[in-house]
Amino acid sequence: MTQKVAIVTGAARGIGLSTTDILLAEGYRVAMVDRDGDELTQVAAARENVLAVIRDVSIPSEVEAIIAETMAWGERIDALVNNAGVADFGPIEETTFERWRRVMDTNVDGVFLMSQAAIPALKETQGAIVNIASISGLRASTLRVAYGTSKAAVIQLTKQQAAELGEYNIRANCVCPGPVKTKLSIAVHSQDIINAYHDSIPLNRYGSEREIADVIVFLLSEKASYVTGQIIASDGGFDSTGVGLP
Ligand code: NAD
Repeated sequence: MTQKVAIVTGAARGIGLSTTDILLAEGYRVAMVDRDGDELTQVAAARENVLAVIRDVSIPSEVEAIIAETMAWGERIDALVNNAGVADFGPIEETTFERWRRVMDTNVDGVFLMSQAAIPALKETQGAIVNIASISGLRASTLRVAYGTSKAAVIQLTKQQAAELGEYNIRANCVCPGPVKTKLSIAVHSQDIINAYHDSIPLNRYGSEREIADVIVFLLSEKASYVTGQIIASDGGFDSTGVGLP
């Protein structure tokens, strides 16, 4: 049987690494993309059936190279997981244009560029896209003008992709994780934010990388063959409460 090929961006650690491991266990070959070369080289060396692609998803020429290298290695693309992301929390007046752009470059441009470049290959396989947004894209909050806006854009981008690519039987869905303890969240979650999340999430805890990755892989699978354009929170119930983001 033909082995399916997935691209996972931001695969060197966190949610992307967990997604890679589940896809490998399900028989995929995985092109692991990350701009952090040291971390990516290390984790890729410990796995079989992977290609380490040390590149930046926010740069058009790098994105072209990601697709070309993946096709040269795997000859097909069945799944694209746009997971690479950066976070920067701060109030509007303290968010410089440089900080704003840094978030938009990866979180929005990266998802747009990677998806656009992968479309020809996805048409061949009738593949699927999963974009990773956040509960920060569903709710407004103080502190998240750049991050929240970027993730709201990912949500709308997913709907646009689903609307446009359905005729090729390409599905596009979006996962909105709640808080997960990763390098990204550790950098921006103060103790006040951690406490508030524990109090307001119905399941009273952070999620694990695996709990997000399982939803991503489900959406890529045949079990979700009639699901497209959906925005699915894996957040311990946070979004259902109506409580504001801390
Ligand atoms: P992480 O920092 O552990 O992993 C993100 C990876 O993306 C890193 O390895 C980083 O090097 C890579 N990356 C960043 N910018 C890149 C670029 N331009 N090109 C290539 N690689 C790049 O973070 P994580 O928590 O696993 O986050 C994964 C995704 O989940 C992100 O999109 C994030 O916004 C989203 N998310 C995370 C949380 C959370 O609480 N951790 C909550 C909601 C959403």
